[in-house]
Amino acid sequence: MTGGDLADRFNAAECRGCSQSIVWARTDNDKSMPLDPLPVAGGNVKVTGVGRDDRGVHPRVRVLGKRESESLLDPPGEHRYVTHFVTCPKRKDFKR
Ligand SMILES: [Zn+2]
Repeated sequence: MTGGDLADRFNAAECRGCSQSIVWARTDNDKSMPLDPLPVAGGNVKVTGVGRDDRGVHPRVRVLGKRESESLLDPPGEHRYVTHFVTCPKRKDFKR
């Protein structure tokens, strides 16, 4: 699979916890969310467009509901992602 790496299109950042590359996205609610740059089959985050602010461009994303992400198989050519909060080995450190 090619073309789905968000780090190819957007500035990557580094997770403070595990140093892995992440890409900051903005959700429908204008919340910032770190994504793993590589697409994941069955991921629940869908990129809907490109936003722009004073720091440059970032992906705009929509978080799919549980039923939605399970019932819709990834259509061909559509990449799905997961938030780094789910995959980070240091995620427990982020608990507030
Ligand atoms: Zn991390």
